[in-house]
Amino acid sequence: MTARSEKGSSTRAVHGPEVREVVQTPLTPPVYRTSTFVFDSAQQAADVFAGREPGWSYSRTDNPTAQAFADAVAALEDPSGVAVGQPFASGMAAISSTLLALCSSGSHVVAPREVYGGTWSLLTRQLARFGVETTFVDATDLEAVRAALRPETTVLWAEVLANPTMTVADLPGLSVVARDAGVPFVVDATFASPVVCRPLEHGADLVVHSATKYLGGHSDVTGGVVVGAAALLERVRTVRLDLGGALAPEEAALLTRGLATLPLRMTRQCQTAIVVAAALQTHPRVVRVDHPGLTTHRDHALAGRLFTPGLYGAVVTVTPAGGRVAGMAFVDGLRLVKRATSLGGTVSKAVHVATTTHLQLDDASLAAAGIDPGAVRVSIGLEDVEDLVADLVQALDAL
Ligand SMILES: *Cc1c(COP(=O)(O)O)cnc(C)c1O
Repeated sequence: MTARSEKGSSTRAVHGPEVREVVQTPLTPPVYRTSTFVFDSAQQAADVFAGREPGWSYSRTDNPTAQAFADAVAALEDPSGVAVGQPFASGMAAISSTLLALCSSGSHVVAPREVYGGTWSLLTRQLARFGVETTFVDATDLEAVRAALRPETTVLWAEVLANPTMTVADLPGLSVVARDAGVPFVVDATFASPVVCRPLEHGADLVVHSATKYLGGHSDVTGGVVVGAAALLERVRTVRLDLGGALAPEEAALLTRGLATLPLRMTRQCQTAIVVAAALQTHPRVVRVDHPGLTTHRDHALAGRLFTPGLYGAVVTVTPAGGRVAGMAFVDGLRLVKRATSLGGTVSKAVHVATTTHLQLDDASLAAAGIDPGAVRVSIGLEDVEDLVADLVQALDAL
């Protein structure tokens, strides 16, 4: 066959428009929606693959748009600029890669008994099958945490704010327990975001987030991120490459856009949450409101020491009198607040805890975890506070 000057239609379709290098800097980070990257030479490919030259090879390994998001979160968590970040497809992709990086068969994990349901499930249903044992403790009792550690413990896990009681972790105290034992201290800061609390400043080795919640902030994307020292993060990154939980570039761009308004959103949502919590606390049908901004919350003083002044998170857990039936009726009576799980978005959402996020717990286990069977978790969004209070109060009045 002779060489052809004109390419066939399939060749032309596949090769599409020529991708030109843009030498100007765009204002916003471009979306590198590509699974792979072109090398100038076989030698450059060899050098990038071997790590001798910086560069991008394949988007499951690393993608510039995803990395830009993780870098931006690292800069929020550590203003000194030392910590680095790694992006993930979801909070659970971040958490599973972190735990697998730190555990081997025979390892032991210490985690709070209120730990997020997905993390609990990963530890008890998956990692347990591979010989990783977990002890769930009352993490507010530092002596109990210390007593739970064993020579084979490789992770101490904490959550800044526990779901749905909004229990605050004593991060400095826990970090001392971890440091004394030489155990990495990992903190899930999803409910707080770096606007409310930066765990690295309180002794955490790694911080993990479900970016699906406040970082993204618009309920339209799932993602996760891990931040910490470069050497530890490289181990976590390696697990992501092997398990495949890479953050997609389109999702990363949405998350990066969300970060720009994170301080504004989070501040407003936290301020609204305190007003809502205070307003509902005095309602005659309400037996309990859990929010650390209230002086009646057991961790109000601790939160005051660890958190940005005046900000206590934007989740308010409201318990009407009357148990499960009343909790479900309260949720059914809402008109503005959406009946939906998750948190952190612009729109306020509510779920009846015992039948959704804590479905696996019977009443005795709920009681042990300090959760009333009627508890309703409300994630405060960006609506006017008067409208939120009015909606929640009319639903309570109707009980
Ligand atoms: C939602 C959540 C996760 C899991 O994140 P996904 O993005 O849903 O995978 C982990 N930890 C906490 C505290 C969460 O709220």
